[in-house]
Amino acid sequence: MTKYALFDLDDTLLDFKNPMMEAIHEETGKNIHWSKWTSYNLLETYDISMETLFEILTKHECLLTALPFPLSKHILDKVRKLGYTICLVTARGWSPESRELTEEWLKHYDFPYDELIVTQVGDNKVDSLKHIEYFDFAIDDNHENCEHFATSGKFKDTFMMSTPWNMKECLKTSGIKRIYSLNDFDKMKF
Ligand SMILES: [Mg+2]
Repeated sequence: MTKYALFDLDDTLLDFKNPMMEAIHEETGKNIHWSKWTSYNLLETYDISMETLFEILTKHECLLTALPFPLSKHILDKVRKLGYTICLVTARGWSPESRELTEEWLKHYDFPYDELIVTQVGDNKVDSLKHIEYFDFAIDDNHENCEHFATSGKFKDTFMMSTPWNMKECLKTSGIKRIYSLNDFDKMKF
């Protein structure tokens, strides 16, 4: 039986927060470190529109300049060696070039994967996974996405990458497991 693994990209396998923070700082003059981003709502944090945010990210080419986390490739290589089919699911649909740029980035860093799914911001990622019956695990930093995974019955395990914007979320009853770094994840037995 094929085993499936789902990975989010931004701030799960790569550091998107730093180029995003620098780009917003440069364009708005507002210097708010990402450690102070205590909710996922950057529009409120910076008092900007979604359109402005996406214009800034596009202008600063954040989809290309973001750097992978040091353990990302190692983990993907390991998971693939263990026989998993790797599904990358990202809500980068805000950029018309997201697929092209993301594929270029993944190739540049030699990330192994089997499928790249690009959803729109705010979409339920589970809706884009109808063609796959069951996943062994998902890992994402967005609490709402993790809730969708955990309540769908489609995932054996859901891991949430700990970030300042999901620290206040209580996971007691949800079945979501918080991990503090890819190092934590690397130590797990599959
Ligand atoms: Mg993310």
